[in-house]
Amino acid sequence: MATVEQEFAQTENGVVPDAGGIPVENPATGETIATVPDMSPEQVAEMAARGRAAQPEWQAWGFEARAKVMLRMQKWVMDNAERIVQTICSETGKTFEDAELAEIGYAGNAFGFWAKHGPEYLADERIKSSQVLVKGKKLINRFRPLGLIGVIGPWNYPLTNSFGDCIPALMAGNAVILKPSEITPLTSMLLAEGMLECGLPENVLQIATGRGGTGAALIEHVDMVMFTGSTRTGRKVAEAAARRLIPASLELGGKDPMIVLSDADLERAANFATYYSMQNAGQTCISIERVYVEAPVYDDFVAKVSEKVRELRVGKPEGPGSVEVGAITFPPQLETIKDHVADALQKGARVLAGGSQLPGAGRFFEPTVLVDVDHTMKCMTEETFGPTLPIMKVADADEAVRLSNDSNYGLGASVFSRDTERGEAIARRIHSGAANVNDAMINYTVLELPMGGAKESGLGTRHGAGGIRKYCSQQAIVVTPKLAMKKEVFMYPYKSRTSKMLAGLFKFMYGRGKRD
Ligand code: NDP
Repeated sequence: MATVEQEFAQTENGVVPDAGGIPVENPATGETIATVPDMSPEQVAEMAARGRAAQPEWQAWGFEARAKVMLRMQKWVMDNAERIVQTICSETGKTFEDAELAEIGYAGNAFGFWAKHGPEYLADERIKSSQVLVKGKKLINRFRPLGLIGVIGPWNYPLTNSFGDCIPALMAGNAVILKPSEITPLTSMLLAEGMLECGLPENVLQIATGRGGTGAALIEHVDMVMFTGSTRTGRKVAEAAARRLIPASLELGGKDPMIVLSDADLERAANFATYYSMQNAGQTCISIERVYVEAPVYDDFVAKVSEKVRELRVGKPEGPGSVEVGAITFPPQLETIKDHVADALQKGARVLAGGSQLPGAGRFFEPTVLVDVDHTMKCMTEETFGPTLPIMKVADADEAVRLSNDSNYGLGASVFSRDTERGEAIARRIHSGAANVNDAMINYTVLELPMGGAKESGLGTRHGAGGIRKYCSQQAIVVTPKLAMKKEVFMYPYKSRTSKMLAGLFKFMYGRGKRD
């Protein structure tokens, strides 16, 4: 059987079509740029066997040797940044800047971060216990790699959200099979090539290109699944993982609110609302998807945002600095965006900027500002995942918090106020996995912080200690010194004198003190 690398042909200038399999399209032009294999369940099973065979040696390499590969890869990403950006842009239609900042920047940071912090997070923890029966014993909390991890990713950030999760899984000593979105498989394949060049042993990381069925097959063979994608598919993944009793970490959809209080720096708030709703053409799980503005500053804020959004250039990216807003990557997403705008207009909303799809071969939607919106409209309650920004006037912060929490999602949130204490207090009332005060989305770049969703936005976290420990099982180790007694006092034969002594001991330890 041919490997992915053999079946996937690349030229100096990019990818070329291959016979059969899944066509990969450039959303900015509509052209087919490559074809990748649609891997069958049998092929996935073979990959899993190869991954399992390769894993023990990779684990035996130890942290230092694995970190070396990651650090080499960090430099490889920088040395090949242009080629990676070109590949990302060609299969997503995003702008050069969106690929550079959120994907190359993320990868550079992540390879170094996990190389450095992975060993700390996974080092044996020496535990002290108040349990008298283990006095003098060595107690260890040990993290052991699970074995074979399945990473399933979406199409919006092929490097950050698909490949990015492989880094801690590998650093922990696991073998990984990555199933990228069928829409954007090329970046993962390119990065896997880089990992081999940087010394990763064969089959420790494999790319299973394919559709949803390939992802479903993968779950049947791995020891843990790390899934990023929609809440709808996330449920299916959780069900499949539950049937196999394997852990699943789920990073799902969002409908992130932004709250603008009347004492906010309006210019900053307007810039952040514009950038973080339109960046990556709004196709970011933690995009600002809806804004609540206190009545006294509503008109000013809306005027500022509308002006800024109207100035954005949308269309086919022609290299750095050419447009701010690129293509809609996934064909059905365009229908969702159009549907949400039409639904809002039909229910009384007004468009202050944009509002329509651009004509032509590529898939583009104008950066759009909607006002006079409310929670009867899809644009305020369902994930739009496009370059749209609905803005709603609220009476006060309490109403803003209530509406922010009126959602099945709970991924990110942001609050703008010059009173940072008040801003933080309001951020704490929002039921979300992250909340930024006078900022948005930036928490994602802080790899020391956990990143994950509340409510239907996910289960588990990436980043931080939990972001690598989840790829391990924990083993509690208790070591009794060699000069121990021949038996413990509570062992057979049971004697009334010993029982009374133990009862007295427990009362002394746990029964002293006042009763309320
Ligand atoms: P999908 O849920 O449609 O797909 C995600 C991945 O799952 C794809 O690789 C898909 O394959 C695969 N898949 C589909 N069906 C199954 C199945 N039954 N079993 C296993 N895998 C399957 O999400 P999108 O690709 O459309 O991504 C967009 C979504 O991702 C948005 O909701 C966004 O908010 C979310 N997201 C969340 C992030 C977070 O960190 N919380 C970050 C980035 C995105 P295929 O594409 O081939 O169908």
